Order: sequence, then structure tokens, then C-alpha cells
Amino acid sequence: MIFTEIIKKKRDGFSLTLEEINFTIKGYTEGGIPDYQMSSFLMAVVLKGMSKDETLYLTEAMLNSGKTFDLSRISRKKIDKHSTGGVGDKVSLILAPLVASCGVVVPMVSGRGLGHTGGTLDKLESIPGFRTNLGFKEFYNILENIGVAIMGQTEELAPADKKMYSLRDVTGTIESIPLITASILSKKLAEGIDGLVLDVKCGKGAFMKELKDAEELASSMTSVVKGFGKECVSLITNMNQPLGRYVGGSLEVIESVECLEGNGPDDLMEVTFTLGSEMLMIGDMASNRDEAILLLNEAIKSGKALATFRKMIELQGGNPLVVDNYTILPVSKYTREIKVKDTGWISEIDAYEVGIINLLLGGGRRKKEDSINPGVGIVFEKKVGDRVEKGETIATIYYDSVLDDKIEKRFISCIKLVSQPVEKPIVILGSRRLLS
Ligand code: URA
Repeated sequence: MIFTEIIKKKRDGFSLTLEEINFTIKGYTEGGIPDYQMSSFLMAVVLKGMSKDETLYLTEAMLNSGKTFDLSRISRKKIDKHSTGGVGDKVSLILAPLVASCGVVVPMVSGRGLGHTGGTLDKLESIPGFRTNLGFKEFYNILENIGVAIMGQTEELAPADKKMYSLRDVTGTIESIPLITASILSKKLAEGIDGLVLDVKCGKGAFMKELKDAEELASSMTSVVKGFGKECVSLITNMNQPLGRYVGGSLEVIESVECLEGNGPDDLMEVTFTLGSEMLMIGDMASNRDEAILLLNEAIKSGKALATFRKMIELQGGNPLVVDNYTILPVSKYTREIKVKDTGWISEIDAYEVGIINLLLGGGRRKKEDSINPGVGIVFEKKVGDRVEKGETIATIYYDSVLDDKIEKRFISCIKLVSQPVEKPIVILGSRRLLS
């Protein structure tokens, strides 16, 4: 096969065959296809799209570029969750131990934050000693022991995605539903799971700003997972304002512990319980939503969920005492309370802006190789729909040494007040369900 012909075929809007897609992915992973040709191919996919079949072939080729975890000796159902990324989205830290404590095995391979979004691995690494670079054997042993482990992508899992993602990042080819679908699912399907629950974020702080694009991504991902014979449910959730009250590495670990102790904020708990109930149903631990919610509540009330989180921290090398003593976590000692200048109702907290402000404080990355400061962040006292009185504290910024005036001004302008009452935003915007 001649790769230039494949590029031209896609450029002209034709569908590619399984053989052509396999040739492309194998050629690029093994080095036979150079970056300049692959960039041109990726741009053709961005502009012309891919059919459902092509997206399935692409995912399979990328998955087959590496190894797949064999978890078949663990008899219970293995179900994971993936979020397309947002601001204040610490759901994995709460959900993974919570669902595992109800009997479903959660083998989670997670990512790092990039740009304005936070990443699960970075948040967990705020815990002193916590290791996310587990080998397969260690990951497997922890899963067998407590039913949950969270690790980062290795060289062996979907190496085609690793190479393609770096190229897409610098060639303006991230924004493509088939490419995003194949990238995410090639990694998730390599985990050896029986089913997957997807949290497709939608809104200002998400990758998909419009509901129609989020629905298209949810439907693309659901049908590919289904094409692999696995169970899949996609939820579309609101990411216009930050999720929960805390944004930033250590601060989000603290909020996660609070949630596992039963003190979580409504929006965060609604996302966690909706995803969790789907995982318990797919994982054969509950036959309907009410039963699942009961189990999740019981796991929190009894302390089982928190005990599983504590054990996971310990088995992954972290200091489990953080759960009882937050001062062990690195949290910035300088704080600035932001007070409102008028009385009214909050109509907007721009999640994208909040993510960027956290990044500017040092809590995010400008480039992949940057390190992040786990101590900085923001704690919100009020959210959209809340009434505030003039002079009341709306949020506290945690920073190191100096808080730049420009950052403070930018933060103030990402919060909008109006003089009329505002309804609390809807949290779950939609779902796609394709079960066997
Ligand atoms: N996350 C991924 O892993 N891949 C994408 O393409 C986008 C988000």
C-alpha cells in the first residue's frame, strides 16, 4: 500500500478499509510513516471525519499497537469510568474506591491534566508518597486485594495513541470526534474491562462546549465500546461552572475525602452517584438504580468506601493518614478571600477561566513537561444559583508567595451576579445507553 494514496482518499472524503487503517497505524507506530505524512492524514480526518466502522477499526488498530491487561482471573466484573476532563472534576478519586467497596472491580488507567483541565494522576500525587507509575503485576495485585487501583499509561498500553496524541497536540488535530474516540478508548479497552461508564463533560470548562458535540462524542464512544462487545453507558454532564467547591491538587483530595465521609456538595455527589449507579448495574451488583443508590449510600455511611480509599493510598505508597489529617497534604499557606461588591444571585462562574486561573497560580501545566504545584487552588463558598450579600466571601484563593493583581482581577471577572433569583443548573444533561 502507498500511504500517499490513503491520505488522498481520506482528503477526498472516502471511507477507509480495515486494511488501510491497520497499515496506517502499524506504519506510524513502527516508524515507517513519518510525522509530516501522519499530520496530513490526521488533518484529513479532522476535516472529513470517519464513519462508525472506520472509528471502530481505528480504535482496534490503536489498541492492538500495544498490550492488553489480562484480568480474566479476577472473577468479578471489571468496570471503569472515563471523564473527558473538566475543572474541579475529582470524581474518579471518590467514585473508584466507592464503587470498589460495593463489589465491582475498578481497574483505572488515568491521565494528567493539560491546559485548563485537571488530571486524576496529578491530584493523587498531591498525597505524599503516592505512586501512579505501577507495573502490571503491582496493579493486578492491588486490584485482587481491594478491587481498585489507579495508574498512569505505560509505554506498553496503546503506544500508537501516545505517539499520535503528541503529534495531534502540536498540529491542531485534537478536535475530532473519531480521533478523540479512538484515543480514549484504545487506552480504556486495553485495561481488560467488561464495561465502561463515560462522563462526557459539556460546557465552558469542557472540551465539548456545545450539547450537540457532546452528544455526538457520547454516541461515537458508546457505539465503539459496544462494538467490542462490552457494556457502555455515556452520561453528558454540566461543566459550565467548576464541579464541587474545591479546585487544585491537595484541595481536591480534601474534598474527595469529605465526599467519602458523606459531606460532599450536591452537584459533585449527583455526578458521582449517577455514574456509580450505572457502574453497579453494569457490574451486576445492583438490578436497578434505587438498589444501586442504596448500596452507594450504605458504603459511605458504614465507612467502607473511605476505608477502601485509605487502603488504596497505602498500597500505592502514599501516606494513608491524610484521610484523617489534612495538614499532611501540601496546601499553600497564603490565602486571599474574594468578597462580593454587590448583593444578588450568582448567575455564572466560568469554569474555563477558573481552570486557567488555577494554572496561572501554578496548579496546571503550560507544557507537558512542566511540574505542578499541588498546594494552590480555589475554594468556593458559593456557587451558581446562590444568593450573596455585599461584602460576603464568595471564594478563597490559595497561592504561594505573591498573588498577582491581574490574576485576582481575572478571577473576580469570571463570576457574574444578577439582581434576580437564578435556578441551580441542571447537572446531568443527557445519557446514551447501549447495553446487551
Ligand atoms: N483525551 C485523550 O486521551 N485523547 C483525546 O484525544 C482527547 C482527550
